[in-house]
Amino acid sequence: MSGPAPAGVPVERLDRLRVARPRPALDLPAAERAVAALLRALGRDPASAHLAETPRRVADAYAELLTGRQFDLTTFPNDDGYDGLVLARQVPVHSLCEHHLLPFTGVAHIGYLPGERILGLSKLARVLELFARDLQVQERLTQQVADWLQENLAPRGVGVVVEASHLCMSLRGVRAEGSRTITSALHGALREDPRTRAEFFALTGTAA
Ligand SMILES: [Zn+2]
Repeated sequence: MSGPAPAGVPVERLDRLRVARPRPALDLPAAERAVAALLRALGRDPASAHLAETPRRVADAYAELLTGRQFDLTTFPNDDGYDGLVLARQVPVHSLCEHHLLPFTGVAHIGYLPGERILGLSKLARVLELFARDLQVQERLTQQVADWLQENLAPRGVGVVVEASHLCMSLRGVRAEGSRTITSALHGALREDPRTRAEFFALTGTAA
């Protein structure tokens, strides 16, 4: 269920939107067999006592990490005509890099300039999670969240910044430990109006 409506908003003025993405066709037994095959290919014995349950655990973990949870998004009329920036800062983000199947984690800052409707702040995190539970690249994740909000909320502007560390960078290859990748996607006034854009980046703490 969504959160309660602000006091005085009649129920018929709430818009409820079922938010979901197509579920991937998961074949868990096939995934387990593939993990066992990977272990063998890596010179390990998947039948050993320590690894016996590993294929099932890995298959379950990937199934969870790749399946977004659907939810109901309730929007409210912006009766007070609030026209300032609404910003959720430091929203945790966890996703899987599609190049290495390794996690990337960090925070997102998601802001919008309300148009005729507003939504509960916790829902911004749910939208982010819906797209993060996928094989992703950080750039696409950032853009998908911004596009979704622009299309479904019709705000006057949207800004999304994601700051993340990629295990594929910190553990292997260049071993760029501690380095963070920053991506942003902007729509509407946050894209077109330099002052609004500067305010957004200053509030997110990612201004140049
Ligand atoms: Zn990677």
